[in-house]
Amino acid sequence: MSISHIEHIGIAVKNLQDAIPFYEEVLGLKCYNIEEVKDQKVKTAFFMVGQTKIELLESTDPEGPIGKFIEKKGEGIHHIAFAVTDIENQLQRMEGKGVTLIDKTPRKGAEGLDIAFLHPKSTLGVLTELCENKNK
Ligand code: ZN
Repeated sequence: MSISHIEHIGIAVKNLQDAIPFYEEVLGLKCYNIEEVKDQKVKTAFFMVGQTKIELLESTDPEGPIGKFIEKKGEGIHHIAFAVTDIENQLQRMEGKGVTLIDKTPRKGAEGLDIAFLHPKSTLGVLTELCENKNK
């Protein structure tokens, strides 16, 4: 197994403008990047905590995955992302162990990472993302 660390925790928020001040002024973290991921219909804001990021997710479309999540469950933790090496092989291996993959092959996520999601029905209810940084 080659998970090195928790790459980020994804948190769904209604809007970044209201959420960022909590992370900056209350928790004392610094937002270092805001990026739109059109593919996923979200705007993301990133904070670094050690080698792990907090990724705030604001929906840009009520029909997008975060829009639907907030409508159903409200704001809160949306997913956990593990940093892996050799993401293609990891996906294959996990599928071989009976895990349902949302992404059978990796796609591009925020910050140029290769990402893939595992279905929460086969991960004990936690939407799980694998990330590989192939740029470094
Ligand atoms: Zn993520």
